[in-house]
Amino acid sequence: MAGPLSLEFVLSGDHVERLPPTVAEVAIVGRSNVGKSSLVNAISNRKKLANVSNTPGRTRLLNLFSLDGKPDRSDGRLKATVMDLPGYGYAAAPKHMRAGWQEMIETYLLEREQLAMVIVLVDGEIGPTKLDVQMLDWLRGYDIPHTVVATKHDKVKSSTRQRRKRDVAEGCRLEQGDVVWVSSVKGVGIDRLRSLIRSWLDLV
Ligand code: GDP
Repeated sequence: MAGPLSLEFVLSGDHVERLPPTVAEVAIVGRSNVGKSSLVNAISNRKKLANVSNTPGRTRLLNLFSLDGKPDRSDGRLKATVMDLPGYGYAAAPKHMRAGWQEMIETYLLEREQLAMVIVLVDGEIGPTKLDVQMLDWLRGYDIPHTVVATKHDKVKSSTRQRRKRDVAEGCRLEQGDVVWVSSVKGVGIDRLRSLIRSWLDLV
């Protein structure tokens, strides 16, 4: 099925064990300002959906969405879900709080059953940061399935695009073809990402 992903907000939480069970889930993670909210809005047909995750008090929580209006199944499990994880790298936050979020994100990534794919957002304009590379190494270390999506494709000049694509892939220690490039502003790669998400969630 083509077209936008119809995402409905389910809940916010900070305890992985209290999240409702699901059949398949895709999680989106990235440092703050990478373009996560813009991307969630672009892939869904709800223009201000990501604002839900950005309301005060929710930016540091696990924000769960259900997809394409799939109802609860008879066994009470949600069928297909998208988890918007808190942005990492709030430099301004006290160290003990940062450690708390990191633990929550790691617990989620290690313990969430039916986690089908982690989308790791990397800013295409500036390339992977040290924190992005740490996240990728950590995911690799635990064999957690993940895909790098490079944001802000439109901010890279066409004359430098080939080199930038090579550099971003190299920085993430990936092949160029493994990085999905998107622009939420121009719509580049958005349909492809929607299809990928549907396939990861077994909706196609
Ligand atoms: P978040 O903190 O990860 O949720 O990031 P936002 O979605 O709020 O985006 C951070 C900044 O990058 C904002 O100023 C956005 O307008 C800008 N931005 C996000 N995506 C794009 C994009 O595809 N192209 C351009 N040019 N700017 C973008």
